[in-house]
Amino acid sequence: MQVVVVGAGLSGLTVARRITDAGHDVIVLDKGRSSGGRCATRRIGDAVLDHGAQFFTVRSDEFATTVDEWLRAGVAREWCRGFGAGDGHPRYCGTNGMTTITKHMTEGLAVRYSQMVFNIEKNNRGWWVHLDDGTHLAADQVVVTCPVPQSMALLVNTDLQVPDGIRNIEYDRTIAALVVVNGVTNVPVPGAVQNGDATFSIVVDNQLKGVSPIRALTLHCNAAFSEEHWSNDLAVTHERVMSLAQSWIGDATVVEHQPKRWRLATPRTTWHERCWAHDGIVLAGDAFAGPRIEGAVLSGMAAAAQVLG
Ligand SMILES: Cc1cc2nc3c(=O)[nH]c(=O)nc-3n(C[C@H](O)[C@H](O)[C@H](O)COP(=O)(O)OP(=O)(O)OC[C@H]3O[C@@H](n4cnc5c(N)ncnc54)[C@H](O)[C@@H]3O)c2cc1C
Repeated sequence: MQVVVVGAGLSGLTVARRITDAGHDVIVLDKGRSSGGRCATRRIGDAVLDHGAQFFTVRSDEFATTVDEWLRAGVAREWCRGFGAGDGHPRYCGTNGMTTITKHMTEGLAVRYSQMVFNIEKNNRGWWVHLDDGTHLAADQVVVTCPVPQSMALLVNTDLQVPDGIRNIEYDRTIAALVVVNGVTNVPVPGAVQNGDATFSIVVDNQLKGVSPIRALTLHCNAAFSEEHWSNDLAVTHERVMSLAQSWIGDATVVEHQPKRWRLATPRTTWHERCWAHDGIVLAGDAFAGPRIEGAVLSGMAAAAQVLG
């Protein structure tokens, strides 16, 4: 069986791993230049900053098994047991940034980057997956793991009856700032503050977190702030975010700073099943099993089970 997986995020890589291990031909396509999707790590000079997902928790036995494998492989580690007072529940992260995990997951998989899928079309035997470079791939089954609006756009020329409860899923946005600093900031050990003020949902010191050799902050604006400022001028908004960030930067000196924006950051609602499938097309991702890393992996597992029958 030939399977094409669209998306090399946690969901797509989980699907691809399982179907490849079952002996099938799998090609993963991603429009990005590396794996991870919303699990993203960026370098700015010597600094290393996670700028999408910051950490993950484990709520299910299925995901615990996967996390145990990551821990044994040395690609994930426990970061802390909560921020502030702490609640005793482990928060995990990638050993050298969140993409340490997704890089590990790609080992032995056929993953093609900078491959933008723009259309999926039915043929007599299965499906064509059309790329924006004019080429196409044939597939018996296609697993689409993009954020839902992007998945829907790929299926626009099919007659698949995707339920409205999936089709209408909307996403919160996240405006972020990445700030390399010199000196000690106001972010305390173990390196993160959640909802510490009216603007930021999380502020992370990537050095205290243990992923960056030098001090660098990731600041995520909350959904309300991000929505309110999304359409404003990028430079003006970034300047405002930097001014609001000052209370976390403290007396440290800003060396470099960059804006980052996630248009489809977090699904506001999720479908009640871990994936949706019809006629050789499977839809998966965190909109199906929970808006977090665990949800993406669980959805990937369900999509693989669906493909393998
Ligand atoms: C700012 C932010 C902070 C977060 N913080 C946390 C956190 O602390 N803890 C947590 O558990 N979760 C967090 N999350 C959520 C977590 O990142 C996601 O739930 C998870 O990474 C989703 O994985 P996925 O595989 O479903 O989707 P994605 O990671 O979005 O993967 C989809 C992939 O599809 C690719 N793609 C899209 N369209 C196309 C196309 N046309 N052709 C080819 N490829 C395409 C994309 O490039 C992407 O790589 C956060 C998310 C964001 C944005």
